Amino acid sequence: MIVAMQEAASEEQIQVVIEHLMEMGFSVHRTTGERQSILAAVGARADFDTRNLEVLSGVEHVHRISAPYKLSGRSFRPEGTVIQFSNGVKVGGDQVVVMAGPCSVESREQLFTVAEQIAKAGARALRGGAFKPRSSPYSFQGLGIEALKLLREAGDKFNLLVISEVMEISQIGQMLPYIDIFQVGARNMQNFNLLRELGKVKRPVLLKRGIAATMEELLLSAEYIMSGGNYEVILCERGIRTFETYTRNTLDICAIPIIHKLSHLPMASDPSHGTGLRDKVAPMARASVAAGADVLLIEVHHDPDKALSDGAQSLYPQQFAELMDTLRMIAPAVGRKIA
Ligand code: PEP
Ligand code: MN
Repeated sequence: MIVAMQEAASEEQIQVVIEHLMEMGFSVHRTTGERQSILAAVGARADFDTRNLEVLSGVEHVHRISAPYKLSGRSFRPEGTVIQFSNGVKVGGDQVVVMAGPCSVESREQLFTVAEQIAKAGARALRGGAFKPRSSPYSFQGLGIEALKLLREAGDKFNLLVISEVMEISQIGQMLPYIDIFQVGARNMQNFNLLRELGKVKRPVLLKRGIAATMEELLLSAEYIMSGGNYEVILCERGIRTFETYTRNTLDICAIPIIHKLSHLPMASDPSHGTGLRDKVAPMARASVAAGADVLLIEVHHDPDKALSDGAQSLYPQQFAELMDTLRMIAPAVGRKIA
């Protein structure tokens, strides 16, 4: 951490800051320039709040050099994390893994129809909501355990991994027999109790970015899971809320290369929730792969006009198959292949 003192800072004020830093366990290296004194504080205090220094008299500016997250930071595993699944799928390697399916599991007929078509088109995981976080309590809330059973059955039949959203701690145990990946939704990115419990299970977690979360907050949320011992975390950009109204959310594609630089964890993109509009999903999926996404999460429904949730952003199976064909051309251009 670098602490730049004001030009007018007195020697006494500088000494107070130095003592404060040393009390916090930092070793301090002072440089006295022509204009101002600069204090370089070296030490591993990830939880240090720089504002505690900024409020001291004579301090001009405090700049943190080391990140407040450790386990999710790139330096923890510079080569990158690859998550290996029993069916041979690897997330985070040279393959781009496409996870697709309906927003909500609605019925056996719906799920099996969609699962068959996405598997044929090249998806490797089936996504489907069993417990749904809906903005209105009057909207469809999901089929619960019944949906999980259907997901597992369809996943096994069509050789697809299963990913579904967990909303609360009590659902973790219920879901374990049925799913391969826990999804933590945007609304729960800072449900720290849930994240801590997910740190105790041996099952990969896909953690979505909250609608108003910074990338640093996303990485700190991943840290909650990892600090419990579960290092298999996939981060996901799913659009953030901005002043723009033409799309449901603003898909922050730039988060993909930035997170790749900051973290060793695989990065997913969800252009379905990121745009909210069916005709915008394919262009943003293509852009995500070009930007280096390791995973795509795409909502697909065989009859989206009748979908119980997110029909407007769900692709028809035929559109999904066409998108997959395009992605097979784009991926090699950026050194990847579609799993
Ligand atoms: C979903 O994946 O269907 C979902 C509810 O996502 P999000 O948490 O990104 O809104
Ligand atoms: Mn959805």
